[in-house]
Amino acid sequence: MKTLENVKPRVYSFGDKQADGNSAMKNLLGGKGANLAEMSALGIPVPPGFTITTEVCTEYKALGQYTVIQMIKEEVEQSIANIESFMGTKFGDMHNPLLVSVRSGARVSMPGMMDTVLNLGMNDEVVLGLAKKTNNEQFAWDSYRRFIQMYGGVVLGMKPASKDDIDPFEEIMEHLKEKRGIELDNEFTVQDLKDLVYDFKSAVKKRTGQDFPTNPWDQLWGAVIAVFNSWNGDRAVYYRNMNGYPAEWGTAVNVQAMVYGNMGDNSGTGVCFTRDAGTGENVFNGEYLINAQGEDVVAGVRTPQQITKLGSQRWAKLAKVEEDQRAIKYPSLEELMPNIFEELNTYQDTLEKHYRDMQDMEFTIQDGKLWILQTRNGKRTGAAMVKIAMDLLKEGMINEKEALLAIEPNKLDELLHPVFDPKALKTASVIAQGLPASPGAATGRIVFFADEAKKYKNSILVRIETSPEDLEGMNIAKGILTARGGMTSHAAVVARGMGKCCISGAGALKINYKKRILNVGETVYQEGDWISLNGSTGNIIEGKVATIEPELSGEFAELMKLSDKYGVMKVRTNADSPKDAKIARNFGAQGIGLTRTEHMFFEQDRIKAMREMILADTVKGRKQALKELLPMQRADFEGIFEAMDGLAVTIRLLDPPLHEFVPHQLATQKELAEEMHISLQAVKNKVAELEEFNPMLGHRGCRLGNTYPEITEMQTRAIVEAALNLKAKGVICKPEIMVPLIGTVKEFEFQEQIIRSTANAIFKERNDSIEYLVGTMIEIPRAALMADKIAEKADFFSFGTNDLTQLTFGYSRDDAGRFLPIYIQKGILKNDPFEILDQEGVGQLVKIGTERGRSTKPDLKVGICGEHGGEPSSVEFCYNTGIDYVSCSPFRVPIARLVSAQAAIKTTL
Ligand code: PEP
Ligand code: MG
Repeated sequence: MKTLENVKPRVYSFGDKQADGNSAMKNLLGGKGANLAEMSALGIPVPPGFTITTEVCTEYKALGQYTVIQMIKEEVEQSIANIESFMGTKFGDMHNPLLVSVRSGARVSMPGMMDTVLNLGMNDEVVLGLAKKTNNEQFAWDSYRRFIQMYGGVVLGMKPASKDDIDPFEEIMEHLKEKRGIELDNEFTVQDLKDLVYDFKSAVKKRTGQDFPTNPWDQLWGAVIAVFNSWNGDRAVYYRNMNGYPAEWGTAVNVQAMVYGNMGDNSGTGVCFTRDAGTGENVFNGEYLINAQGEDVVAGVRTPQQITKLGSQRWAKLAKVEEDQRAIKYPSLEELMPNIFEELNTYQDTLEKHYRDMQDMEFTIQDGKLWILQTRNGKRTGAAMVKIAMDLLKEGMINEKEALLAIEPNKLDELLHPVFDPKALKTASVIAQGLPASPGAATGRIVFFADEAKKYKNSILVRIETSPEDLEGMNIAKGILTARGGMTSHAAVVARGMGKCCISGAGALKINYKKRILNVGETVYQEGDWISLNGSTGNIIEGKVATIEPELSGEFAELMKLSDKYGVMKVRTNADSPKDAKIARNFGAQGIGLTRTEHMFFEQDRIKAMREMILADTVKGRKQALKELLPMQRADFEGIFEAMDGLAVTIRLLDPPLHEFVPHQLATQKELAEEMHISLQAVKNKVAELEEFNPMLGHRGCRLGNTYPEITEMQTRAIVEAALNLKAKGVICKPEIMVPLIGTVKEFEFQEQIIRSTANAIFKERNDSIEYLVGTMIEIPRAALMADKIAEKADFFSFGTNDLTQLTFGYSRDDAGRFLPIYIQKGILKNDPFEILDQEGVGQLVKIGTERGRSTKPDLKVGICGEHGGEPSSVEFCYNTGIDYVSCSPFRVPIARLVSAQAAIKTTL
C-alpha cells in the first residue's frame, strides 16, 4: 500500500483486507492501530484508515507543531486519498463527503485517558451534502452537532469552567430539552439540531473569540495535534504514573473513515467482550444502542441494551423486568438483528482465537452493515484473569507456559483479600491518597488510639504513625491508615503480615490526637465517622463502601499447582506466629524464611518480663527476667514448628533496639516502676539512657546479642528445646537459627559460638539432639562485600533487603516517606526502593554477596526475606541471581510462587 519509497514511514494505512502494519507493531502503531491493521488483514470489516506512529508524538514534543506537520503532510494526504478511493467519497466534498474519526492509541490501552474526535470534516456545506446523499437530514445534523461538541471540547478547550460546572455544550442541550419538554438526545427534531449547531458555534466564538474552523484540513491537523497533546494531559499523566508507563512511549493517532451508527433504526453502536471481564465466565456479552454513535454507550446518556438474549434475561432479572416487557422494550441484538448478531458472533470467535485471549471490541452498525472499530485484550478482574487463563488452557487455546505468563502477579492479590464492590466504588468519594501498603478493602469508624480499636465493631485505626505497642489494636481494626511511613514502615510490614488493609504515608492527613479529629484540606472528620480504605490503590474514601468476599475458585488452586510445576526457586514465608504460619502453608509456603522473634515480646503478657530484663542492671537480674521469657518463647516456637511440620523454619535472633520495648508514656512508666518496686526516676533514667540519635544504626541486631549474650542463650534454648519437645511427639523440626545485622565475620563468630555451645549443653542435658543450621542475614553492605569470608562460617545467607536498601541508599526506613514521594514525582527515583528492589545498585550487592559466598561454599543456601521477597520484579531478579528461595508475608506467597514459575519459563523462551 505504501507509495513513498525509501523514507521511514510515519504513517501506516489499513483497510479493504490489507494493511501496512500488524499486531506485533504495538510499540510503533499503538495497540489500537496495530490491531486495526491486523483485523483488516484478517478480512474483518474495519473502516479504512491510517495510523500516525507513536514516534511522531515524540517528534512533535521535540520539534513542535509546524515541523511535525510538514514532516507527515505528504503521507497523511496520500493516506486520506487511499481512504477516499476505498470509500468512493471525498474529504471536504460538499456532494459526496468523507468524514473521519480521529482517535488516540498508546501501546497499552488507557481507557478514557486520551481524546477522540468523531465526524471530522463537517461544515455548513458538507452537512447539506451529507443530508442529501443519505436522504437523512436528521442524521446529518445530528452528526454535525456531535462534531462541534467533540471538537470544541477536545481541540478548542470548551470544557467546564470548574469541577462543579456543567459542560458548556451540555448546558445548551439541557436548556433546549427543557424548552421542548423532551428528555433524550435522540428526540431532537431537525430544526432543534440546526438550532443547536448555531448555538454551539456562537458559544465557541464567545468563549474562544474565534470562529469554529470550517476547513476540513485545518480541522484534521487540529485534532491530530490535540490527540498528541492529550498524551501529556492531566488524566493521561496520572494514569501513566500510576501504571509506570514512561512518557517517551507517546501515543499514535488513528484516522479512519467514519461509519455511522446514528443513521436511524437500522443503525447502532456497541461494546462487547468475548468472555465476562468480571468473572471470566466463557459467555459472549456486551451492550449496544440503536441509532447512536461512539461515546453514547459508555457515556451513559441512554441506558444501553444487552447484546445476547442470555445477557438481556440476566439483566431483566436484576432490574425486575418481566420477560414479555423485556422482549418488547429491551430486546437483545440477538433478537432484534439476528443476522448482524450472527456476524458479530463469528468475528468475536475469530478474534479471540486469533489473539488467544479475551477480547474487548467496539462495533458500529451502519444501515444494516456491521463494522468492527476496535479490538484489544480486555481488562479484567483478578478472578476473571485466573479463570480465563485456566479455561483457555483447558480449551487448548494456550499451553501451560502461556497460561502462567498470562497472569499479572499483583492482580492475584484481589483473590486473597476482601474487595470493594466495583459498583460501589464508581460513586465513592475519594478524599485523599496514600501508599497502597497492604491491599484489601476496609470500611469502618475512625479511631485514633490502638487501645480504642475495640470501641466499634468496625474500626479504622488512624495514626500519624504506628508503633509496636499498637499491635493489638492493629489486629482488631479493620484497616490501618497512617499519615507517615513508607512501604516498609511498621504499620505496612505488620499489616501485610496480617493480611490487613493498610494505607500508609498519606501526607494530606492532619491528625490531632488531642481533639480526636482528622483534617483533610478543609474537611474535618471526627472519631466515629465512617471512612473506607482501598489498600490496593491507596485511595481513602469518605463513608461506607460495600465489600464483597473474595472467592478462591478452583482455577486459582489449579494455577498454583501449575506454578509449582515450573517454579524452581522456592517460596517461603515471613511468619511470627503459628496462625500466620498456617495461613502461609495453606497458600503453599515451602518453609519459613523469617520469624521476627521480637514481635512475640510485644504481646501483653511478655512485654513486662521483657522490660524487666531491659531495666535490670546486672547480668544476674537480666538472666532472671529472661528465665521468665523462656517458656513463652519456647511455646511460640513449638506452635510454629508444629504448623510447619517437616519444613525448614528460620528463626532470627532479637533485632530491634531495646528502647522500643520500654514505655515512653508517663502513666505506663509509673505502672512499671510500681510493679518492679523501683523508683519512677530509675525507669525514666533507663529510658533516657537507651535513647539513641539514630536507632536504625544503633544498638540493634547482633550488637544486642554480642553485648548481652544471655539473650542469645535464652533464644537458642527456646528454639532447641521446642524442637526437641516436638521431636518426641513425632514432629519433624528443621530450625535454622539466623543472626541479624552482621557486618564483620567476628560478629557472626561470637554469636555462632554462643548458639552452638548452648545447643550442645541442651543436647547433653536431654541426651538427645536435632539437626539445625546457623546462618546469617546479609543486610549491611559490608557483609555483602565480605561474603566469601562469612560463608566460611555461616550455613546459609538470607538477604535482608529492607536494611540493605536503607544502608546502601543511606535513606532511613523510618523517615524516607518524607522525601521519597517527591523524588518519585520529580523522576529522581523511578519508584520506592523499599518496595521494588533497586536491581542496579542494591541488587549488585545481592549478586556480589551470593557469588562471593558461593566462591568459598559452593552449596551455600541463599534466600531473601526483605519485603521485596513478595514483589514480582524483585522475585524475578532473585531467580535470575540464583537465589534458592524468597520469603514473603503469607498473603504474597501465591504471587511469589507464580513469579517463580514465570521467571523460570522466561529463561526458556
Ligand atoms: C530486612 O532488613 O530486610 C529484614 C528482613 O529485617 P527487618 O525488616 O526486620 O529489619
Ligand atoms: Mg533487617
